[in-house]
Amino acid sequence: SLKSGIVGLANVGKSTLFQSITKSSLGNPANFPYATIDPEEARVIVPDERFDWLVDHYKPKSVVPANLTVYDIAGLTRGASTGAGLGNNFLSHIRAVDAIFQVVRCFDDAEIIHVEGDVDPVRDLTIISEELRVKDIEFVEKALDALSKQTRRGGQSLEMKKLKEEEATTARVLEWLKDGKDIRQGDWSPKEVEAINPLFLLTAKPVVYLVNLSEKDYIRQKNKYLPGLFEWCKTHTPGCPILPISACFEERLTLMQDDAAAEEECKKLGTKSGLPKAITTMRTALNLSSFFTTGTDEVRQWTIRKGIKAPAAAGVIHTDFEKTFIQAIAYNYSTLRELGDEAAVKAAGKIMTKGKDYVVEDGDILLIKAGA
Ligand code: GDP
Repeated sequence: SLKSGIVGLANVGKSTLFQSITKSSLGNPANFPYATIDPEEARVIVPDERFDWLVDHYKPKSVVPANLTVYDIAGLTRGASTGAGLGNNFLSHIRAVDAIFQVVRCFDDAEIIHVEGDVDPVRDLTIISEELRVKDIEFVEKALDALSKQTRRGGQSLEMKKLKEEEATTARVLEWLKDGKDIRQGDWSPKEVEAINPLFLLTAKPVVYLVNLSEKDYIRQKNKYLPGLFEWCKTHTPGCPILPISACFEERLTLMQDDAAAEEECKKLGTKSGLPKAITTMRTALNLSSFFTTGTDEVRQWTIRKGIKAPAAAGVIHTDFEKTFIQAIAYNYSTLRELGDEAAVKAAGKIMTKGKDYVVEDGDILLIKAGA
């Protein structure tokens, strides 16, 4: 399962948000076998109306929705990259996740101390992105050193040619970072990506910004810091989603008696929980897509990287299936939805047999045939 980490300065509302995520019904339906794994790790359901429809349609004995693992990564401070606070230890936690939820404080509250003295979200974003970039620079410098040692031997072998290319890419990456830019902002060729991926750079990870507002501001979707924030993101991290959220409001919802009471409260206020959107946005940022397996026994949503072929998708169900893959019987959810049921899809000749080269599409319903 892919991992996302909640990151941000102290006292911006990370733990409050994380706790709300673990307690909300989104992450903890009665028929889901796991929710909170340990105090810093939770697996939450990725809401998807296609899945809900399939469950309603088949009424299966068991259901397995897609999930996303969320970590609460505490301890980012100014100077973390040089070892301040939890420093390097903390940064290695970020290295281990696939994507980052960055929480930014946009609520004023004299009672809650701001580590930097006052509320200033653009400054906070600058601090965090600096820390992550400084760490990446350090990392890339080491990698470049190691590569230069190897290429110094010289020679014309194929292996040496590859090493030299890698060295050149790594040097470009270093230049880019020193220019004050994040890796995810670059337009890298597939070859460059091949050299960049193994570096697990912090600024290469997708980011979803969660802007923590007071309940009042969240409900009216207005806050004095928002225009400045959007402006900063437009120039520094174009394309990264920015979502308003209110940690306090989410917490309050989870403390209500039940889902119905929470829903009632939302209706009264003319708003809704921001968590489902946060989770689905992260899934999109991770470049993931889904296929389904369906039947009266089980309806299940599987997670794959966009663009993979049928055998690799089969391998997600069972490792062996990737090698022993024979064919996939496939039709898309949208066809099923349009025609009403499986029999109608079949009658319309829309159930296809796909081979090894088939690129699985988002929302495909698959039946995998694999040999022994
Ligand atoms: P973390 O250090 O980033 O994990 O921050 P916490 O989630 O522990 O929050 C720090 C304090 O700020 C707690 O007392 C929260 O109740 C409070 N807090 C979090 N979000 C909000 C908010 O939207 N408004 C206000 N007024 N307080 C908040």
